[in-house]
Formats: sequence, structure tokens, C-alpha cells
Amino acid sequence: MDGLNYDIDTSFEDRSSSRSSSRAKAGLGVIASGIARQHTLKTAISCTGVGVHRGREATLTLRPAPVDTGIVFNRTDILDDNAAIRVSAQAVIDGRLCTTIANEAGATVSTVEHLMAAFAAQGIDNVIVDVNGPEVPIMDGSAAPFVFLIDCAGVVDQALPRKAIRVRKAVTVVEGPVLASLMPAERGLSVDFEIDFAARAIGRQGCHVDLTPDLFRAHIARARTFGLRSDVDMMRAAGLGLGGSLENAVVVDDDLILNDEGLRYEEEFVRHKALDAIGDLYMAGAPIIGRYHGVRSSHAHNNKLVRALLADPANYSLETVDETDLAAPGQGRFDGWRDTDRIAATA
Ligand SMILES: [Zn+2]
Repeated sequence: MDGLNYDIDTSFEDRSSSRSSSRAKAGLGVIASGIARQHTLKTAISCTGVGVHRGREATLTLRPAPVDTGIVFNRTDILDDNAAIRVSAQAVIDGRLCTTIANEAGATVSTVEHLMAAFAAQGIDNVIVDVNGPEVPIMDGSAAPFVFLIDCAGVVDQALPRKAIRVRKAVTVVEGPVLASLMPAERGLSVDFEIDFAARAIGRQGCHVDLTPDLFRAHIARARTFGLRSDVDMMRAAGLGLGGSLENAVVVDDDLILNDEGLRYEEEFVRHKALDAIGDLYMAGAPIIGRYHGVRSSHAHNNKLVRALLADPANYSLETVDETDLAAPGQGRFDGWRDTDRIAATA
């Protein structure tokens, strides 16, 4: 959480309120009660931190944006007209280690996924993300610092309804032992994830979460990215992971967790995979109403899934939704499990 500062910019707020009053006069601001509205931040806010792969310090500034802007990353170190990269499933060019997005001119931003998960969970539709380099700071390896930034900035309703992508037909990506699928659901987004690692500190674990701001904050947001010690050595040799450390990742060596402080949650590893999936799905450009199931799925598989969903108009509908369509069934739930029997048997 180093380098958080409060770069309060109220200029947008003034413009926003004058915009909404002119909409109200034009009759465009009248939205039936219960219809979900678009959201942006109340003020701008910044943080600084290192990028995990190149190890360079970067400053991130989240700024309010008008309705229908979407989520737009803006490389402030690129001084020509090619600095803006609008989030979409098609903008994702690399999902091997992290999610990298690019625009047509080739400008890129990497490691967007934890920030995207925070936007998804807090219902942010419109925001400009200024970053003065090619990587979003990794912070502590989780989404919690970004949720904190959004909380500090505040969230405001905007003058137009939200749209959501409702899954109409099941879509599945299967590659060897990997599965990623989206099924129709009456309301909300639920995420089920399972992983199975030979490293005994991880083993087999799974979780279910209904995506609500509170459940995400309580059970998912603080789960950190993780790696095996052997992978860390390989990445370093390839010139990657230079900013990675025990400050921003859980590192595992078979049955050992190398971080002195241990884990933040019992099933922190699979909770982080659920966090990644929530960010990856939000690359669709709108909240998804459906049931996601991932088994060993990576960013690349999740992106394939989103592209497959959007590739056929029969698979989904883009619709104006009520708040209840986006809410979890009932109060929503989180469940996590670890297959300790299996871990004991292989010990
Ligand atoms: Zn991650």
C-alpha cells in the first residue's frame, strides 16, 4: 500500500453535475427506479508502486469519466495520439503471465487484471486509468489496494442506465485438463474455480463466490498472486518478474510457503484465481450475468471464453438491467474448500 496519496480533483464533479442537469432538462436523466445506473468515481485518486515484470516504479491515477466512456487506460508517457487503450475482449493480446492490452497503434499496458477485478466488483463502468509506463503497479499482489483507492475516491451514479451481457447459451473452452465455461443464470455473476497443484502447500482447492461488492471485499480482494519457487527462478532468468518479491506474491516451494507472514486466507491460491477470472470476465466491456466455472483456467483461457461468448449473438444479449438482475441470488454466498485428504495421502 506504499505511495497512496489523495490527489483530489473535483473539476470533473462540477462538469458531471452540469451535464446531468442538462440531461434532466432534456428528459434524458429520467431513469425508472430500480434500473441500474452507470457508475464512475467521484474524484481522481493516485498511487505509486512497482510493475511486477520490469520492476520499474509507475504512478497510477484513476479519473472520473463521462457516461459510455467504458474503462480506458491512458499511457501518459506516450505523447502522441496513440496513448489511449480502451478495454475490450479484443484488446487483450497476451494472457500468459498477466493480462496485457493493446490499441491498434501498438501501445500496451500489462497487469491490468487485479485493477479490472476491483472495477468489476465495485461496479465501475466509466473510468480513465492514467499510467506513466507499460505496467500497472502490482501493489501487494491482490486487488485490495485498488478497492481501497475506489473507496477513497467514492463512487457516483451517472445519468444513463447500465447495460449487462446476459449469457443466453452455455459457452465452454476445453484444452487438455483446463476448462472454462459460462452458463446462463437468472441474476448476477457467480464464479466457481478449482485448481490442482503438485506443490503440497497448494494441492487441490476450490471456491464459489457470488460477485457482490461485500463478498468480494471480504473473501476475494486480499488474495495475492502466487508462484512456485521454480517458476520464479525461470522468470528471473528470462528477465521477467524483476519487480516480484515476497512483498507482492506468495511463493511456494512444495509444502513450504516462503512468506514469513504465511497466508491471508485458508484457500488464498484459488481465491486469487477467482479474482483473476472476475477481472478477465470484465474485459468483456460490461458486467456478465451468468455462472462461470474454471478448472485450472488461465488469463488466456478466460479471454478465449469471453471472445467465444461474444463471437455469436445467439450466445448473449446486451440489455439494460435492474439492480436486482446484477445482485446475487439471496444474500449471495462464498464457500471455499481444500482437499486435505488428498494432500495427506500424497505426503
Ligand atoms: Zn492475478
